[in-house]
Amino acid sequence: MSEIIGVVGSGTMGNGIAQVAARAGYSVVMRDVQDEFLQRGLNAIDKSLQRDVDKERLSAEEKQIVIGRISTTTKLEDLSGASFVIEAVTEDLKVKTEIFKALDSIAPSESILASNTSSISITKLAATTQRPDRVIGMHFMNPVPVMKLVEVIRGIATSNETYEKVRGLTEKLGKTALDCNDSPGFVSNRVLMPMINEAIFTLYEGVATRESIDGIMKLGMNHPMGPLALADFIGLDVCLAILNVLYDGFGDPKYRACPLLKQYVDAGWLGKKTGRGFYEY
Ligand code: NAD
Repeated sequence: MSEIIGVVGSGTMGNGIAQVAARAGYSVVMRDVQDEFLQRGLNAIDKSLQRDVDKERLSAEEKQIVIGRISTTTKLEDLSGASFVIEAVTEDLKVKTEIFKALDSIAPSESILASNTSSISITKLAATTQRPDRVIGMHFMNPVPVMKLVEVIRGIATSNETYEKVRGLTEKLGKTALDCNDSPGFVSNRVLMPMINEAIFTLYEGVATRESIDGIMKLGMNHPMGPLALADFIGLDVCLAILNVLYDGFGDPKYRACPLLKQYVDAGWLGKKTGRGFYEY
């Protein structure tokens, strides 16, 4: 397969997307701002694939072939041959806008530009380009190699052709596409984040301990993870950014982020990725 997929950002989501695309046979160019971040992304991919080798779901040779399909770069221009670009950088409108503007002038005009944003308007990102019909949301779930869903978000100008191509790509990646229209938080985070925020409020108000809150939701609601552990896993900075998008987007105080969440983010306690969040890692 000669098609190239560009991935912008090599963090939690970017390296997961790169891994899944390479495993599906695509050539992948992964871009981040520093070599050190790219190396960290490659290490995460290596570790994740090694788990599959250990469980005999992948041979050691296949692992090397998959890794060999991924090249890394700090230059956005190296994505000039990509037919699809999936952006997975920090959840920040300004940063993403700059990337979409630059990608629009770099990527071939027929290429599709997708964002893995959790909550930022696809319509807004599309409007910064000359190809709003070829801009779409591809919201992968964390951890990307494990989770089957890709929430596909159509901006107001996204064409049906773009949607169909992205649905096809999603299937080739071994995932299931479910679509929705552009709206703050889409479906997944509009429903999930208020639950996480409410769990943080119950901790903040001393209603229960972290273990009780998570245990009640796991045992009582059959959730695989408690909301506080899930927030740590997602990243508390990411959760706060999404809640702020919901709050601003709807102007409804029910999306007000819990002060405890803000405090943890201020302290740099961002969850699993920094070794401390609601739990210690
Ligand atoms: P992360 O912090 O792990 O990684 C972000 C990466 O982007 C970092 O490596 C950073 O160096 C890089 N970056 C920043 N500016 C860049 C630029 N200009 N060019 C290239 N790379 C740049 O974040 P993440 O958790 O991977 O989140 C990425 C995106 O995915 C966000 O939009 C987030 O909302 C979304 N998302 C996250 C999750 C989750 O559970 N973490 C789930 C679904 C979607």
